[in-house]
Amino acid sequence: MTQLGTRPRRSRFAPEVLPDGRRRFSHEAVVARRVLLAGVLAAGVGGGVVVSRLSGDDAEVVPAAGAAAPAPEPAPSAAPVAVDGPSRTAADSPWVVVNKQHPLDPRDYAPPLAVVDGKEVAAVIAPDLRSLLQDARRDGVDLSVTSGYRSFQRQTSVHDSAVARDGLESAESVSARPGYSEHQTGLAVDFGGRTQPGCLLKNCFGQTPESEWLRAHAGRYGFLLRYPEGATATTGYDPEPWHWRWVGTDLVQRVAERGTATLEEFFGISGGAAYA
Ligand SMILES: [Zn+2]
Repeated sequence: MTQLGTRPRRSRFAPEVLPDGRRRFSHEAVVARRVLLAGVLAAGVGGGVVVSRLSGDDAEVVPAAGAAAPAPEPAPSAAPVAVDGPSRTAADSPWVVVNKQHPLDPRDYAPPLAVVDGKEVAAVIAPDLRSLLQDARRDGVDLSVTSGYRSFQRQTSVHDSAVARDGLESAESVSARPGYSEHQTGLAVDFGGRTQPGCLLKNCFGQTPESEWLRAHAGRYGFLLRYPEGATATTGYDPEPWHWRWVGTDLVQRVAERGTATLEEFFGISGGAAYA
């Protein structure tokens, strides 16, 4: 393992003890717990884990799959959880949850924008994103912004051309409908790294030093991993180690303390592969 900077490092699975005595688990620990739980549940019902090819949020750059997608799984039931804080439904809220059950309102919402690392993102995330990139570089980790804000119009043309080329079902296995992409909020960032250019927007990005740095530090800048391993049935998306969502440090910490892997579980909001 590479020593990053001069910060003391603990096991990525060990909890950090907060000043008030509560324990805070790292994102890896939370994800590992969820994956373990999912494995136990799958074993318990006597079947293997069924992995279906569900839609990625980043079809702009990911080649379309050749085979038609299987029928979407039903969204898990969810009961709203009372949490004090910003709105989960207002399009311009830092806590907005956007998934296939919950499109943006209005569908053609566009945030105030800023440019970071040559890409448009919501202006509200620019200071934290700039700090993250700067501090990563200081640690010898060269992260780049591959994709930030994507407009309703851009997503419409991406989705339309995918449907024209592959048919609706196959296209929707890799392309989000306009109004349903988290990138339209400007709060989502796809990161790339220099060490493994071939792993851009691929699962192997998860094994790069850049991904390791993000998993260890991105929470300090208000970002959380939005589509973790083992959460496809909840998020509606296959794991995307490159796709990070800015929600602010307060929510990152609260999600970690609760031990939930996804925003859907934390807020008790429905999700899954089926469109509303
Ligand atoms: Zn993305």
